[in-house]
Amino acid sequence: MSVYEELSNYRDLNFDKFFDQITDADIQRIIGKQRLTVLDYLALLSPRAEKHLEAMAQQAHRLTVQHFGHTMLLYTPLYLANYCVNQCVYCGFHAHNDIERKKLSQEQVIAEAEAIAATGLKHILILTGESRYHSSVAYIKECVQTLKNYFTSISIEVYPLNTDEYKELVEAGVDGVTMYQEVYDEEIYAELHPAGPKRDYRYRLDAPERACQAGMRTVNIGALLGLSDWRSEAFFTGVHADYLQNKYLDVEVSISPPRMRPHVGGFPPKVIVTDKNIVQYVLAFRLFMPRSGITLSTRESAKMRDNMVRLGITKMSAGSCTAVGGHAEKASVGQFEISDERDVADIAAMLYSQNYQPVYKDWQIW
Ligand code: SF4
Repeated sequence: MSVYEELSNYRDLNFDKFFDQITDADIQRIIGKQRLTVLDYLALLSPRAEKHLEAMAQQAHRLTVQHFGHTMLLYTPLYLANYCVNQCVYCGFHAHNDIERKKLSQEQVIAEAEAIAATGLKHILILTGESRYHSSVAYIKECVQTLKNYFTSISIEVYPLNTDEYKELVEAGVDGVTMYQEVYDEEIYAELHPAGPKRDYRYRLDAPERACQAGMRTVNIGALLGLSDWRSEAFFTGVHADYLQNKYLDVEVSISPPRMRPHVGGFPPKVIVTDKNIVQYVLAFRLFMPRSGITLSTRESAKMRDNMVRLGITKMSAGSCTAVGGHAEKASVGQFEISDERDVADIAAMLYSQNYQPVYKDWQIW
């Protein structure tokens, strides 16, 4: 069964009707369960569960400490290029946005790497806009070869690749893939992606699975919150993560709950997602998949991130910049505005103050 078929099992579900019949007793019983079903997870995403966030938080904290200890893996994004052929209405790199387009030379990649490495980080996430012409697999591989001199774990967030291309990158040293579906609702997906290869919903949806088949160590998925109803998007993200984890036992499957941020082009969120909504999503997911990673980026405010440390998050970005070449020099316009602008040392100090160990490196194979 494909992930599309798996998700299709729930596409006709009447979420409002399901939520209406959830009781307080149901939520209490689910919080106490050892192993949650998919529909238990959905119940924890219900409006009814909002009254039970404290109990969910205690359980989420207990499970996270049990599986991850008091640790937080740190990484930072490195934007290699911002050329893009797509027209995602919610993104500053939209093909028709009049921004300075850039692609780093290897000398510039070295400058970025040196600036990041000086902070002590060993894990990076490299990103490009979606342009096979400007950011070919060969170019990404060349950058990976350069970056291996500085970092021990290199993940990619680029356009969806085929399985052989993911394999090529695994062989080159890439060990992780981040691929957001952006929005699981197919109709809204079509509306928000009016042109370009990204219109192909299913090719993107299958990309995380192709990465698993290609031998990636970690695969991170998510929906961009603010584009559609957050409860159903959180649910489908969880179903997708569960599908991958059950099928690919040797892959670390994790999720992110990214929320829309201001960007060039200014497309406003279709749905307002509150801090409380994000907290409920993270807690529900932690109870559903106790051993999965949850990543919280600098899209969120410093206060929000500080408060989320003890609620199930296992990985945080730090010292982030969403512009090409932004670590080494003041750079062009970013993909979106970040909210938490603290540097790596500040984030580490915040974690220590909460009795958490910042982890700069938990992986190396070369
Ligand atoms: S979200 Fe990605 S694919 Fe869409 S316009 Fe932005 S960079 Fe391009």
